[in-house]
Amino acid sequence: ALPVVAIVGRPNVGKSTLVNRIARKNEAIVHEMRGVTRDRSYHEADWNGVHFMLIDTGGIEMGDEDAFQKSIREQAFAGANEADVVIFLVDGRTGATPDDIEVARVLRKSGKPVLLTVNKLDNPDKEDEALWEFYSLGLGDPRPISASHGHGTGDLLDEVVEEL
Ligand code: GDP
Ligand code: MG
Repeated sequence: ALPVVAIVGRPNVGKSTLVNRIARKNEAIVHEMRGVTRDRSYHEADWNGVHFMLIDTGGIEMGDEDAFQKSIREQAFAGANEADVVIFLVDGRTGATPDDIEVARVLRKSGKPVLLTVNKLDNPDKEDEALWEFYSLGLGDPRPISASHGHGTGDLLDEVVEEL
C-alpha cells in the first residue's frame, strides 16, 4: 500500500485547495467516504518520484457548537490514525482559533509526525508576523504557504516525503 499523507484542519483553511495543487492533475478522486466523521477523499500524488496517497479530511458538518467541536476532534483523530504523516493546515489570516488548539492537542497525542502549515500567506514578504502566534500550538516551527499561489508548497512536499 502507498504511504498516506492526511491534511487535517478546520473548514475553510484551504485543505481542498492544497489537495488540488499537489494531487495528480488528471486523476479523479480515488475513493470517497461519506459520514460526519468519515467524510474524506483520497487522491494519488507524487513528488520527486515518491508516490503517496493524500487524504482530504473535508466536509465536517456544521451542527450545534458542541457537535461541531466534537466532529473536528474526531476528524483530526481519524485522519491522524490513518496517516503516516499529517499536514495540519491552519489559516494565517484568522490566526490560531480555539478549534485549532483543540486539533493540535489531538494531533500531539497521536504520536504521528505533524507538519504545522500556515496557509493563505499570499505575500512571502509579509509572512513573519502571521507565523509567530502559531508556535503556541506546541507543534514546532510553522511553515508558510499559499495554497492558491503555490508559495512554499514545494518546500512542504520536500519535508513530507522525507518523513515517508
Ligand atoms: P477547506 O474547507 O479547508 O477545504 O478550504 P478550501 O480549499 O475550500 O478553501 C476555502 C477558501 O479559502 C476558498 O475560498 C479558497 O479559495 C480560499 N483559499 C484557499 N487557499 C488560499 C490561499 O492560499 N490564499 C487565499 N487568499 N485564499 C485561499
Ligand atoms: Mg474542502
